[in-house]
Amino acid sequence: MSAGPKEFDLIARYFTRPAPPGFLGVGDDCALLPVAAGHQLATSVDLLIEGRHFFSDVDPKALGHKALAVNISDLAAMGAQPLACLLSLSLPDMNDAWLQAFSDGFYALADRAGCPLIGGDTTRSAAGIVINVTVMGQVRPEQALLRAAAKVGDDIWVTGTLGAADIALRLLQGRLPANERLLAATRPTLDWPEPPWTFAQTLAGVAHAALDISDGLSQDLGHILKASSCGAVLDYTALPLHPALQGLDALLVQEAALAGGDVYQLCFTAAQEQRAHIQALADQAKCVVTRIGGIVAEPGLHVLGQGGVPIKQHIAGFDHFS
Ligand code: ADP
Ligand code: MG
Repeated sequence: MSAGPKEFDLIARYFTRPAPPGFLGVGDDCALLPVAAGHQLATSVDLLIEGRHFFSDVDPKALGHKALAVNISDLAAMGAQPLACLLSLSLPDMNDAWLQAFSDGFYALADRAGCPLIGGDTTRSAAGIVINVTVMGQVRPEQALLRAAAKVGDDIWVTGTLGAADIALRLLQGRLPANERLLAATRPTLDWPEPPWTFAQTLAGVAHAALDISDGLSQDLGHILKASSCGAVLDYTALPLHPALQGLDALLVQEAALAGGDVYQLCFTAAQEQRAHIQALADQAKCVVTRIGGIVAEPGLHVLGQGGVPIKQHIAGFDHFS
């Protein structure tokens, strides 16, 4: 859509920073970007709607960060190197303080991840903020981490920790009794997700299957199992629980760890022979990785607790339409 004078002003003020050499950024009909020889473009888009994906009173700087982070997480899940992003915004009004904070949060991550903003679209919305971010990355097609690539005998790994974002969300939604200390300890994970994009690129060609945990470990791992026609056995006692979960009700912790969404860390599978190599890559990238189970031929996801006793899961992952 073509923008009116106010929109031009907004784009110029908040969303026009120089593109890197070799790129054509904001200002023409299309942006242009180079893709390295032997690579393919990896691209993904995510839509964030006020009231559904974020609270109206969320810190706009955190929102700018998260809008890009959830997309960079998708690139990481393919083992792709971030190249550039596009941002479409639909806003009910032009609030300068909001726009400044949002763009600061967005650009800070774009700079760190090497994912420059090279274009987008801006419109007025009748009600509510809508944020649409498209990312582009590059990966050698034969090295991309596909959901269908898990093999029987593979280890299952996760990056980072589990459960904190879900606890923060429950507290903010009043599904847990107010607890300032617990909210302070868990909310940064919900508001400022830090997908492991550097480590993820080093997994390309090393790991087999991968995805990012957005809807809960059980449900998301289920996508790998379905796509790869296999099953998995998880060791619940090995899960890297966020330290803030210590001392909480055991069933609550279990639900947060296995079904909690908004994690934006990776779950990936790799041959057992790669254990030392993967650990070395993770150390090099200053990324925490944990081996949590293995891929088996028999379909289904089995979670074993203390002493190998199966844990029943009566829990579903997050579903926006439920
Ligand atoms: P068009 O008429 O081709 O849609 P626009 O007038 O909407 O162009 O946008 C002008 C330029 O500003 C384009 O290069 C577009 O990519 C860029 N742009 C628009 N909105 C944004 C935004 N929110 N973030 C970054 N770039 C944007
Ligand atoms: Mg436009």
